[in-house]
Amino acid sequence: MYGLSEEDLEIQARTRGFIDELIPYETEAEMNQGELPAETSEKFAARARELGLLATNMPSELGGGGYTMLQQVLVQEQVGRATNALGWMISTPPQWWPAVATDYQLEHWLIPTVRGEMAECYAITEEGAGSDVDAIESTARREGDEYLLNGVKWHVTSYNEATYAFFQAKLTDGPHAGEHAMFVVDLPTPGVRVVRTPAYSHTIAHHHPIVAFEDVRVPTSHRVGEEGDGMDFSYEWFRFERIMVAARCLGAAERLISEATAFANERVVYGQTIMGYQLVAAMLADSLTELFAARSIVYETARGVDEGRDRKIQHAQASMSKLYSSEMAGRVADRAVQIFGGRGYMRENVAERFFRELRVERIWEGTSEVQRSIISQQLAKRGVRQLV
Ligand SMILES: Cc1cc2nc3c(=O)[nH]c(=O)nc-3n(C[C@H](O)[C@H](O)[C@H](O)COP(=O)(O)OP(=O)(O)OC[C@H]3O[C@@H](n4cnc5c(N)ncnc54)[C@H](O)[C@@H]3O)c2cc1C
Repeated sequence: MYGLSEEDLEIQARTRGFIDELIPYETEAEMNQGELPAETSEKFAARARELGLLATNMPSELGGGGYTMLQQVLVQEQVGRATNALGWMISTPPQWWPAVATDYQLEHWLIPTVRGEMAECYAITEEGAGSDVDAIESTARREGDEYLLNGVKWHVTSYNEATYAFFQAKLTDGPHAGEHAMFVVDLPTPGVRVVRTPAYSHTIAHHHPIVAFEDVRVPTSHRVGEEGDGMDFSYEWFRFERIMVAARCLGAAERLISEATAFANERVVYGQTIMGYQLVAAMLADSLTELFAARSIVYETARGVDEGRDRKIQHAQASMSKLYSSEMAGRVADRAVQIFGGRGYMRENVAERFFRELRVERIWEGTSEVQRSIISQQLAKRGVRQLV
């Protein structure tokens, strides 16, 4: 199905087998703030590396997987089948970096990240700037061969696991004053401190603290690309990550439908299995149909990237993929909780965990409203036939 090649199917099966090994650890993670014992995490990280699942999005010349976009979707779809972000060890370094990384950046950060020896986090969002990234107030002031960075960043995912952060700021002076630039800040660096680590709905080992950058000095070698390039990286990142969010939502929906179907086939109420009740069966039929639709959208979007489709069309299709898949997965999780009844409200139940975890898929990497806005703007400019 879906016109997948032998190679695609092999990648899918390899990742599926790995995620199947992780799934039995979900409840333990859920009951321990998302953490697994260090030796368990290390064992799985080594296994992911051995299976060639790290940095699938990086070029093979840098030691990455060199996978097509469709193959990366197949990998991330499987990652999405596990709750508690257990599959996140299948990391994807920023796909926009190889094109602009200096030799220094390759050696210091990118290649070690591809090897799984370092990990990044993204410090872009601020208290007053989420959807509207251009509203950021963080600053970068050039002083000789250094930049002085200041700003307070919110929701910095994986800060507690990261060895460096991408920090986006507006330049205060020079020909690009007011424009954005991106910097790499090693962790720890003097002047970087956690303001607080709020609790979130999901239970995962990756925290999202509020982080203050106060008079942080970095050499110019830490600037990614040129002054004024900062927003380009954000757009590149969004296009890539929206497709990956969509892929993980497909995996989550598949898992939920499988588990809820198995339960419905065996749970007997009033003397018959609940699958025999049309009101329950219809919830599963709707879920499966919506998964089929979402998967078709996401795979076609990924194929378009592989075929070099027009960038703006890719952008709109990535938004459609994320919008539809994240909302579909939310509906599927809600129905799954309902089918499991009281069990669906227990944290040891997969539907309960996904019900909480999937909510953020409609918020991060651009909210559903932002996706609808992008899609409708492209529709107004290009018309229906170019976009779908
Ligand atoms: C768990 C988590 C992890 C995150 N990780 C990171 C991270 O690692 N790095 C990082 O930089 N950021 C991160 N974020 C931030 C995330 O990208 C933002 O939360 C998201 O972009 C939304 O921004 P906001 O929260 O400020 O909401 P706002 O922008 O304030 O939006 C509030 C509401 O207004 C709506 N709205 C906004 N603009 C429009 C519009 N034009 N039209 C219609 N409605 C609109 C939104 O859809 C939303 O419903 C994370 C967030 C969460 C929750």
